[in-house]
Amino acid sequence: MKSETLLNVANEFGSPIYVYDAQKIEAQYKRLTAAFNKVKKLKINYAVKALSNISVLKFMNSLGAGLDTVSIQEVKLGLHAGFKAKDIIYTPNGVSLEEIEAVAKLGTQINIDNLSILEQFGSKHPEIPVCIRINPHVMAGGNTNISVGHIDSKFGISIHQIPHIIRIVENTGMHINGIHMHTGSDILDIDVFIYASEILFETAKNFKDLEFIDFGSGFKVPYKEGDIETNIEEFGEKLTTRFKTFCKNYGREITLAFEPGKFLVSEAGFFLAKVNAIKQTTSTVFAQIDSGFNHLIRPMLYGSQHEIENISNPKGKHRFYSIVGYICETDTFANNRRIAEIKEEDVLAFKNAGAYCFTMSSNYNSRYRPAEVLWYNEKAHLIRKRETFNDLLTNQVSIEIKNNETIVK
Ligand SMILES: *Cc1c(COP(=O)(O)O)cnc(C)c1O
Repeated sequence: MKSETLLNVANEFGSPIYVYDAQKIEAQYKRLTAAFNKVKKLKINYAVKALSNISVLKFMNSLGAGLDTVSIQEVKLGLHAGFKAKDIIYTPNGVSLEEIEAVAKLGTQINIDNLSILEQFGSKHPEIPVCIRINPHVMAGGNTNISVGHIDSKFGISIHQIPHIIRIVENTGMHINGIHMHTGSDILDIDVFIYASEILFETAKNFKDLEFIDFGSGFKVPYKEGDIETNIEEFGEKLTTRFKTFCKNYGREITLAFEPGKFLVSEAGFFLAKVNAIKQTTSTVFAQIDSGFNHLIRPMLYGSQHEIENISNPKGKHRFYSIVGYICETDTFANNRRIAEIKEEDVLAFKNAGAYCFTMSSNYNSRYRPAEVLWYNEKAHLIRKRETFNDLLTNQVSIEIKNNETIVK
């Protein structure tokens, strides 16, 4: 989106604010489906946790996507947004058997990643088909927090435990209708992904009732100029060939599924915040914005780099700044970054703010969470109001203690 457009949105709706470019989301969706257009049955399940605004979910629905969810609340959001239960897959980790049963009751595809839960679920509900999440133990990913395929990972059932899975399936009479993996975010090396896929194909041969194989996600998107990204087209070609061979040997066509979050929404998002103050110290020029890790925590949590543009002065001379927030803890968004000259009250735009940004926001320091806008058809549509003081009080119960007695007020 153009800086001018973003600035207009900030002026109209205030800051801080998240803006999502629907056209970019659509372009990413189409790029992915085009890369796999030779696959007969393709399913793209958007990972809700990346950005869960119901208007974004509705837009995904209009594109033809399904949903990938990790909690019963995400499933309910999806149903609320108009998705059919059968177009939602639920891939939790470490949740209770009760929650899994409740989601299954809604008619959603269950994906189980734990032997103990598999055995309990299969014993009680052998008639409900389940998918199993396999851990192929392939190390991939940009960051140890988000690579989930290694041997000591808490995610998935180890490929070394396939015999145990088979025993559980035989003992309970349950049906396995899908095989899944999600090796981690930021996969750069296609051959690593293909290698993990081969392990998945080997595993899949053990199960006769498969309807789909789900290859998870992990597509890398560029965060700054010159950044490497997953070559989706090359990947599509290589995996399609392998998948077709698999289907031929398996004896029938099954569905190839993916569940991207970041790939679909990261680049579509912009976070806009206003500069409250400039502060010069002996070594640094700080620009302090009207935000903090309560609104955008990824730089502090993962050290992720979000490109920052001064949209109030896009053509200004570049200078070096540290961009920090107003939280009473260290909350550095960027250190020693070249940005067009910043004045107080300028608006900064953080790029790649579509995925894992708003969804990770909080009310820390009793600040309101930002508003959200969907940019569609050259128009700004408010899709979440800025919070107000009442939102901070919601669900709080006020009690007062007087003369050793508590009074609810
Ligand atoms: C988070 C998650 C995804 C999405 O990952 P991205 O890196 O955002 O594409 C997909 N599948 C599962 C099971 C996840 O937990």
